[in-house]
Amino acid sequence: MADKVTPRSEDYSRWYTDVVQKAELADYAPVKGCMVIRPYGYSLWENLKAGLDRRFKETGHVNAYFPLLIPMSYIEKEAEHVEGFSPELAVVTIGGGKKLEEPLVIRPTSETIIGHMYAKWIQSYRDLPLLINQWANVVRWEMRTRLFLRTTEFLWQEGHTAHANQKEAEEETMRMLDVYAAAASEDAAIPVIRGRKSESEKFAGAIASYTIEAMMGDRRALQSATSHYFGQNFAKAFDIRFLDEANELQHVWTTSWGLSTRMVGAIVMVHGDDTGLVLPPRLAPIQAVVVPIWKSDEERTAVCRVAEALKTRLASQVRVCVDARDEYAPGWKFNDWEMRGVPLRIEIGPRDVEQKHAVLARRDAPGKQGKTSVPLDAIEDSVVGKLDEIQSSLYQRALEFREDHTYCPKDYSEFKEAVSEGFAESWWCGDADCEAQIKEDTSATIRCIPLDQERGRGKCIRCGDEAAERAIFARAY
Ligand SMILES: [Zn+2]
Repeated sequence: MADKVTPRSEDYSRWYTDVVQKAELADYAPVKGCMVIRPYGYSLWENLKAGLDRRFKETGHVNAYFPLLIPMSYIEKEAEHVEGFSPELAVVTIGGGKKLEEPLVIRPTSETIIGHMYAKWIQSYRDLPLLINQWANVVRWEMRTRLFLRTTEFLWQEGHTAHANQKEAEEETMRMLDVYAAAASEDAAIPVIRGRKSESEKFAGAIASYTIEAMMGDRRALQSATSHYFGQNFAKAFDIRFLDEANELQHVWTTSWGLSTRMVGAIVMVHGDDTGLVLPPRLAPIQAVVVPIWKSDEERTAVCRVAEALKTRLASQVRVCVDARDEYAPGWKFNDWEMRGVPLRIEIGPRDVEQKHAVLARRDAPGKQGKTSVPLDAIEDSVVGKLDEIQSSLYQRALEFREDHTYCPKDYSEFKEAVSEGFAESWWCGDADCEAQIKEDTSATIRCIPLDQERGRGKCIRCGDEAAERAIFARAY
């Protein structure tokens, strides 16, 4: 028997950990809270990265790299920033065997060091906008960790931009939120809700934080990426000023935005099923696996020859491999590749070779219904077409699942029920105490105030006060 995972329907949390480990996405590191991203997981991340990097460049950004170590005093310059991050900081106090004069922080995020450099680099309006992204690791000391979802060290990208006026900075904040929404839906096949964070949930030091929120397979929410508008907060803390066209000295307006390896966890949780991973074809490290089936040595030679030829033909369009391992039976291989989430399996047996056919089996539609026999001479088109179908069907399925578990409760008791079942979309008065009370009563938080909502007025779902906006409430990772 192939290595089995705990069925998702039986124990979601154990299923998640099983899938991540057995599909060889990641493993635990010796230091608590850290993880090792294994080649299969890293390849998934690389594909996600490539799609994002392309979009960043298309929107005018360039990549750079800033140091891991940041002087403690930098973190302390922006009051809300230090308050928000100090409980999670890892601090270096000894270097080269000597106590350091000033402790160094391992970056939890890079606003401060980048702000320091921007103050040096920006002199005039001609230097703006400055649009830099960095791919890096960050460390935030976490007490309760889970592979990919919450780890002390994680990989991410952080974009940091500086602009000559408020309007451009606000536009940038929204542009990058849209870039994230596009990458999530088009590449990861994950539908997301774009929205603003409440005051209590926003980034430490931001004027406004925006998020894309997704519903996981257990109907909890996952914040999948964020984009922050800082106004002139960091510009004032780091004295980033420029001479405008009227020759007046002004502070710049800044933004930052980030997406992390958490997104790999989202892909596992949104698409996976009882038997394991289900990967969206655009990001899958292996999009199709060819499994030759034989009984005799003679058959083996014939089917493997066809399988290899098939791989060569497909290789320019599809990430494909052949599983010709002798030591495992075809059934075992089917289960193994299913557990690893490979979107499409191509089966070739002696009869298929004779008839010049192959069988395509979709990972997202197990059993007979997901199988089709296709002629070998047009297999490129069949495979590419199937992969597209799988990509859009995964998105559609996730969207329907979210819609089926999003409720508009009529009163607070229905609301409590709703957030235990999925997302609740409700009027909210905007009061932080009211928000805190909801969290205490239900352990649901405001995931976001959706950007796409009808303007109007209603009564707050908890306190009944006048409300001007609806919010999405859910239990979250
Ligand atoms: Zn209220």
